[in-house]
Amino acid sequence: MRCPNCQKGVPEDALFCPYCGFKLQFRLVKMSDLNKLRKIATILNTRFLPAEWKCIVDEKKKRLLFAPSAKAIFLAGFKRSRAAVVSTLILALDTALKRAEEELDIKLQLVEMSKISYFTYIPYLYYEVLIKSKLAKNKNEQNSARIFT
Ligand SMILES: [Zn+2]
Repeated sequence: MRCPNCQKGVPEDALFCPYCGFKLQFRLVKMSDLNKLRKIATILNTRFLPAEWKCIVDEKKKRLLFAPSAKAIFLAGFKRSRAAVVSTLILALDTALKRAEEELDIKLQLVEMSKISYFTYIPYLYYEVLIKSKLAKNKNEQNSARIFT
């Protein structure tokens, strides 16, 4: 995330900007709104993800699942240099997700990986979507400021 005052990159959990001391008003919280998650999944599928990956909403745990296509699984399972295929696929996904994070102003946090079968090493990847949220403390400050003005 960027400091709204000096625009320098600051750690996501910082309460103050380490460069200019500006009090940061946001923290990252997990998005649990299913409709919004569905919208993000659609945007990722249509605009960002390479053809070998698709994004599905894990409605039960309110997170996104990135699953490789049947073709990608086939390639990884039967091609000789399976490790190379897998690393290429993962790198392509990673690059796409970084671009999406910047453009959509969200943070995608990997929370779980699971293997599909013994025949392939391409995992299912589960990500939580983190969004910026105002700190409760600041909300109270704003409320009290409103009362006193
Ligand atoms: Zn700053």
